[in-house]
Amino acid sequence: MKQLIRELVVKPGTKFKLDKFDPGETFGYDKHSAADHLTKNVERLSALQYRLYAEGKRALLVVLQGIDAGGKDGTIKHVMTGLNPQGVAVTSFKVPEGPEKRHDYLWRVHQAVPEWGKMGIFNRSHYEDVLVVRVHDLVPKRVWSERYGQINDFERMLSENHVHIVKFLLYISKGEQAKRFRERIEDKEKNWKFSPADIKEREYWDHYIEAYEDMLRKCSKKHAPWFVIPANSKWFRNLAVSQILCDTLEEMDLKFPKSTTDLSKIKFE
Ligand code: AMP
Ligand code: MG
Repeated sequence: MKQLIRELVVKPGTKFKLDKFDPGETFGYDKHSAADHLTKNVERLSALQYRLYAEGKRALLVVLQGIDAGGKDGTIKHVMTGLNPQGVAVTSFKVPEGPEKRHDYLWRVHQAVPEWGKMGIFNRSHYEDVLVVRVHDLVPKRVWSERYGQINDFERMLSENHVHIVKFLLYISKGEQAKRFRERIEDKEKNWKFSPADIKEREYWDHYIEAYEDMLRKCSKKHAPWFVIPANSKWFRNLAVSQILCDTLEEMDLKFPKSTTDLSKIKFE
């Protein structure tokens, strides 16, 4: 499993190519054993979150990005299912509105950063400002190209202030996206998820791939690594994300605080 994590992390400073990466890869795991493993990871995550909360000195920020129908919502549902809602917050970033439009792009993001002791999950993030914004020329190149450095500085500042960061790009193939869109059209219970705008967005696939590659190359850092998750198989995606989260929290070596009172002297009826 540790091996898997080394395979999926984008090594800082390398010319990462997404087309060398197979979104259908499952690294020899099968669906059945993955389900058992996921159950164990979900339990581990719950125990680790308890420690994070008890320690109260550090936070974990999880960033989820991916193309439409990439599985961001499904990952949150299946991987975070055992977490105590008191210690976790999910923030979904949409098209900026109201005051968000009258501030710098990191303003809304900074406010959603988890406090120490908590986990924060970003369903989309500040990376939209170098993805959709770049693909659709919502600001000039001169503006978005400066943002990689700004994002790196922002994330470094957070990590120096006790916020641990892990970032996942859920990577599906164009064929898998078509299959999921079809399901959204055919399944009455999934109709609500379908937006005609997603079909239009699909035409920009290659532009997105280019923007993802730049983001991965420029913004994967030791203190805030990007992981590319092969996400055609939902069960593999869930397994990989849960494993990386467990390992990240375990490496943090979270400690229960020592009681400030001598508990052996406490007596009561
Ligand atoms: P969904 O995640 O399906 O609810 O869609 C949210 C939409 O908001 C997506 O189309 C994103 O590309 C878009 N979005 C999120 N952040 C930004 C941003 N900073 N600028 C423009 N569009 C954004
Ligand atoms: Mg959508």
